[in-house]
Amino acid sequence: MIDAPDVEELNPPQRTLMGPGPSPVHPRVLKAMSTPLVGHLDPSFVEMMDETQELLRYVFQTDNEWTIPVSGTGSAAMEAAIGNLVEPGDTFLAPTNGYFGDRMAAMARRAGGDVVRVGAPWGEPLDPDDVADACEEFHPDVFGFVHAETSTGVKQPDVPALTEAAHDHGALVVADTVTSIGGVELKVDEWDIDAAYAGPQKCLSCPPGASPLTLNDRAMDKVLGREEPARSWYLDLSLLEGYWGDERAYHHTAPITNVYALREALRLVAEEGIEERWARHREMASALKAGVEAMGLGLNPEDDYWLPSLNAVLVPDGVDDGDVIDYVLEQYDLEIAAGLGDLSGDVFRVGCMGHGARPENVTLVVAALADAFD
Ligand code: PLP
Repeated sequence: MIDAPDVEELNPPQRTLMGPGPSPVHPRVLKAMSTPLVGHLDPSFVEMMDETQELLRYVFQTDNEWTIPVSGTGSAAMEAAIGNLVEPGDTFLAPTNGYFGDRMAAMARRAGGDVVRVGAPWGEPLDPDDVADACEEFHPDVFGFVHAETSTGVKQPDVPALTEAAHDHGALVVADTVTSIGGVELKVDEWDIDAAYAGPQKCLSCPPGASPLTLNDRAMDKVLGREEPARSWYLDLSLLEGYWGDERAYHHTAPITNVYALREALRLVAEEGIEERWARHREMASALKAGVEAMGLGLNPEDDYWLPSLNAVLVPDGVDDGDVIDYVLEQYDLEIAAGLGDLSGDVFRVGCMGHGARPENVTLVVAALADAFD
């Protein structure tokens, strides 16, 4: 017999989460998560599924019928989008300007795609002319880009110019909106994005576990017309249609508590109003930006493509980023994060997301950083 381990009752520290995600969860979402379960095929849950889909269409600003929460984290929604849209032998055009563009490329390769790249340095957005040139050269079947690069704090401006360049060359467009949804202007239909995936744990302030995904008819036609099934059974959208479509038949047991949470988080967005929420993120992040700039610290991206939900603050010369991150965690129970990849050691990543985008949190970040540099 193996002895039962003596593990104490759960008692995590109370952190203020101002890193790249997860963000602080709204109390109403936590309350929704402690609501008793119903079955995943219960008529009441089916109604909640419909409501969640309707709310998701609102935050994505889309009429796409095919709008669902994928069971799993943002990477599951990402792999559902890429793994279904990319068929073996397809050419996938992926960006080089951040960590998550690389992940898109890796997933497309696993789906059997040939990956080609369109370049921009880490910390800069893609240039639509470069996308047009790459489409001319490579004739991709699918083009992916990251709307809000969490690794660099860059917001891709002028998305319609990117989608137009890709569509002119017959490519479908898939957008990573993990760090923009619910916090930064995002208009899936108006911008002509064919598929977008997101995560709930950033500007929606919901725990990870059920991740938004939307596809338009053009994208779904490709998915449903595939010659061979998607490589992942779990994420095969043609099978998931049975559960999230009209039939509502068993495919897998939905993470009921996560759907409750997402529904409540989305209700909060609807109550606030999507445009008001984008404005709040901009205002709070502007205050944060002003505060760190007043300390003599700069932000890495230029103002034209600054991403309010993720602020890449430059680490001053001679400062060890890890020491500062440890100091604010120990002294202030405040979580901020280090840079990734090409920006590792060069920036702090300070989130301003969802329920975290409030004056008291901004004040805490500025005060804690000022103290750490003192
Ligand atoms: N894409 C972006 C831009 C992200 O920031 C993240 C996570 O931080 C992901 C994809 C992957 O999401 P997850 O970590 O929830 O799987």
